Amino acid sequence: MKAMILTRICDLREEHNPLELRDVMDPILNKGEVLLRVRACGVCHTELDEIEGRTPPPRLPVIPGHQVVGRVEGTGGGVGRFKKGDRVGVAWIYSACGRCKFCRGGQENLCADFRATGRDVDGGYAEYMTVSQDFAYALPEVFSDVEAAPLLCAGAIGYRSLKLTGLRDGQRLGLTGFGAAGHLVLFMVKHKFPRTGVYVFARAEKEREFARELGAVWTGDPDEASPEKLDAVIDTTPVWKPVVEALRNLNAGGRLVVNAIRKESVDQDHLLKLDYPTHLWMEKEIKSVANVTRADVTGFLTLAAEIPIKPEVEVYPLEDANRALLEIKERRIRGAKVLRIS
Ligand SMILES: [Zn+2]
Ligand SMILES: [Zn+2]
Repeated sequence: MKAMILTRICDLREEHNPLELRDVMDPILNKGEVLLRVRACGVCHTELDEIEGRTPPPRLPVIPGHQVVGRVEGTGGGVGRFKKGDRVGVAWIYSACGRCKFCRGGQENLCADFRATGRDVDGGYAEYMTVSQDFAYALPEVFSDVEAAPLLCAGAIGYRSLKLTGLRDGQRLGLTGFGAAGHLVLFMVKHKFPRTGVYVFARAEKEREFARELGAVWTGDPDEASPEKLDAVIDTTPVWKPVVEALRNLNAGGRLVVNAIRKESVDQDHLLKLDYPTHLWMEKEIKSVANVTRADVTGFLTLAAEIPIKPEVEVYPLEDANRALLEIKERRIRGAKVLRIS
């Protein structure tokens, strides 16, 4: 099969084509698994963290991609949930142990044996992939293949982030960064919290303009002070400055939720600007969001179909995965980027 594979860790600023198009062996179908013919796969900022070594794959080469939409092509022994021809999705959570206290307590995202699709095992930048039937999702009809793909990571992680803010209707929400996850959070907020104003901080004017089109009440640069204090902020940027600035904009008792698997170190010295009375005093909180659970994915898919959310997508052929990744690196983003594979 054709696949875009990662063979070595590198810096995207120097190496603009980190993935190689190769012919590789088709995956082997095991008991309890489904074999998917991949139709579409979302491109996520986390792929940059894998390629640049901030969250490196444990073995190389690996096929990235963790927002996978495919048709079931074959089933292994004991598979009863899906049959040939069904359309299913695969998300960042490829597996978890199922036995530890986190798995048993509804926090499988925190499992020590958490395995991520497209990092710890081969993902969806390919014509085929396999996954356990227990970690595959039926996809609502209302979404096309390319629309469904970004819901599986950007949407699900946005859903988890919003849940972790503890936001109530009418409270003000800030979003720092406005990529795939941010724009899906905005759709959700408009539906779930109609009286909540959303304030968007983004470096690129293209992102700010897009946020205003979708109904943000205010947009500005990450350096700017928001016109009102915010009750919660979700940070989806890869750097530190927006974290410090977001704390300054938080209301007393407010919470900052950092949705980033890793942060880049380029502006880490900005953390030295952290001033206790300005940024933390008055019971301000910081919480990170780690991975997703299957309940986040299904919860979000149900909500997205009910609203319904129509994600804004930019579509690329599989061969152009490097171009899509570079555009994310350079923040040339409008909504979510998706590879169409078959
Ligand atoms: Zn992702
Ligand atoms: Zn576990």
